[in-house]
Amino acid sequence: MQISTILTDVRDGNRLKPEDAVQLLHTRGRDALAVYAAADAVREEKVGNTVTFVRNNNIHITNICKNLCGFCGFGRRAGEQDAYMFTSEQIRAQLTAAKSRQVTEICLLSGVHPESDLDDYIKQLQICREMLPNVNIHGFSPDEINWAATQSNLSHRDVLVAMQDAGLTSMQGTAAEILVDSVRSVICPAKVSSLQWEDVIRTAHGESIPSSATIMYGTVETAQDRITHLEILRRIQDDTGGFTEMVLLPFIHQHTPLHTKGIVQFGPTASEDLLMTAVSRLFLDNIDHIQISLPKLGSKMAQAALCAGADDLSGTMYQDAVTEDAGGVAWCIEPEEMEYIVRDLGRTLKERTTLYEIIA
Ligand code: SF4
Repeated sequence: MQISTILTDVRDGNRLKPEDAVQLLHTRGRDALAVYAAADAVREEKVGNTVTFVRNNNIHITNICKNLCGFCGFGRRAGEQDAYMFTSEQIRAQLTAAKSRQVTEICLLSGVHPESDLDDYIKQLQICREMLPNVNIHGFSPDEINWAATQSNLSHRDVLVAMQDAGLTSMQGTAAEILVDSVRSVICPAKVSSLQWEDVIRTAHGESIPSSATIMYGTVETAQDRITHLEILRRIQDDTGGFTEMVLLPFIHQHTPLHTKGIVQFGPTASEDLLMTAVSRLFLDNIDHIQISLPKLGSKMAQAALCAGADDLSGTMYQDAVTEDAGGVAWCIEPEEMEYIVRDLGRTLKERTTLYEIIA
């Protein structure tokens, strides 16, 4: 089908068909520009000209990980020279720093320690809740939930309810990568399967624990795999309404096993980043916010992505060892710099909470 016909159809309010979305991901040149422009127009209709961010602080409690995914430069085996696991006191020190930055969200983003069980995760949550009683605690991937359930011989629901009681307010939709098991068997064979990921997310949403949706793209997957992934997210959102945003995570290749073993030579190009942003906006008609990763894209690409369907810059983070260890720049910016790049686009930057309530 003609690209212009597909785009007119979507602008008329019709749901983008998977086969047409695959075609959009293959566009180049002026056709690609038309895809970005259509996504930008849909973004404006849906959320206006506001660009949002959350004042948050990442805490990487451990880099020891049972999974050692091929696309990751952060995870370590226990006993490796630079492997670490924070003590309670070290977690408290991180939280004290976060408190001084007046964050509204703590983002727990760590390796999946092979010995951790539900009790360990509960203790971490209790420390966060005790030190920062009013912040949103945004933590744990479906893989961590599944691991806690396995280790403690409980169901996904039992784990989620216990975490919610201990202070968890929202969950990360990470560990999704690409929800196609043939791709997962290459890039993250030790992680939850696509079906397990979906079960944890649906259970969380059912217990009123919202989550982000994510995609980590640019390794071995095809355009069809990316759209299969988006179809799963769109279907879940139709049923639960529990996704707060779609987060786009381009593969950073330099220090990862997939790259050093010669399986993937480079990460995604700029046009792949922009097409992925635009097609996510057009395909996910039931998710209002499309978030880009400033550390992974850098400020200039972030500006371009904001013109191709994105409306959220994620957060202040203050640290992003996951991107840094993979070979990216540990590049977290203060709201003043976000304001600079957003104003340059004629848009308005606003601070939000985890759940996208605007903070005056
Ligand atoms: S991506 Fe996450 S689960 Fe995989 S190795 Fe890295 S830290 Fe571990």
